[in-house]
Amino acid sequence: MTGTDDLAARLRSGDRRALARAITLVESGRADHRAAALDLLAALPDPEDCLKIGLSGTPGVGKSTFIESFGLMLTGQGHRVAVLAVDPSSARSGGSILGDKTRMEHLSRDPAAFIRPSPSQSELGGVARRTREAAQLCAAAGYDVVLIETVGVGQSETQVAHMTDLFLLLLAPAGGDELQGVKRGIMEIADIILVNKADGDLRPQALRTCADYAGALRLLRKRPQDPEGFPKAMCVSAIETTGLETAWQEIRTLHRKRRESGWLARSRADQAVHWFEEEVRQALLARLRREPVRGLMADLARRVERGEETPAAAARLLIERMLGPGAPADP
Ligand code: GDP
Repeated sequence: MTGTDDLAARLRSGDRRALARAITLVESGRADHRAAALDLLAALPDPEDCLKIGLSGTPGVGKSTFIESFGLMLTGQGHRVAVLAVDPSSARSGGSILGDKTRMEHLSRDPAAFIRPSPSQSELGGVARRTREAAQLCAAAGYDVVLIETVGVGQSETQVAHMTDLFLLLLAPAGGDELQGVKRGIMEIADIILVNKADGDLRPQALRTCADYAGALRLLRKRPQDPEGFPKAMCVSAIETTGLETAWQEIRTLHRKRRESGWLARSRADQAVHWFEEEVRQALLARLRREPVRGLMADLARRVERGEETPAAAARLLIERMLGPGAPADP
């Protein structure tokens, strides 16, 4: 038995240390680790019945509190829950705003839960790959709900939407009538908007915010794969744990309908193709940064600078050296 087979077997049996090690392996930049990671991932296909959920919300809306309450509710019902956090800020600041040990204190001690902060310092493409592969490993390890958390800044939501079955957007009650500057792109990928903190003095405000978003969602195009009423907005309180069971029922309904209609299988197949293309793009970019292409590129850049080649002709020359001659109509 090779080391990878052994790790795969232990991971499948639910060994948390094996899962943690496997995730470290897919996060590694070393070439030999990458080769082992690819073997491991090939040996551990994504089980169909794992529900992967994306969750986004700006800092302070209550993501940790929500995941803690929601996760504990699910483990209480017999589910096994994995939480992965994508934190693009960690690449810049060097510290992770999501990696804080005190987050999700009870859930992190729950034997039916597995929490993993994001890998730091990597370009977005790298973070996306690692998170997607980590999610696959969690699913293979028997976690039937995998939550992937993002902070709602920048591009990471779209990436996460490409690796999940369903997307939740967490919002706080809005002060005035502003829609909290939520980017249209995020609204468009949200299947369910959860207005958190619908408790105490904040409750009336939360109800108003919820109604505003329900209105905004109605203006978006209804997705043909979804039942009546989706995407939808609803109120929850992560602290008082109200609305969480209803939210879970809505998630299950949507997921079941999409599975029954065949949409889920198609979506996952499309996602696999998306990531294949993304891997090709990343691999080509990596080749550009390595010799001898890098030297050739620098050389061509100098010739473009001196006006000896046009940018387009120089680019074509480089691509042809890498991939062979292309058809005349290629860009
Ligand atoms: P995150 O930055 O999105 O992870 O947000 P946190 O979970 O750390 O919560 C930010 C603040 O909001 C904390 O002070 C929480 O106690 C508070 N908070 C979170 N959920 C609720 C809720 O349901 N109701 C109220 N009133 N406060 C909440």
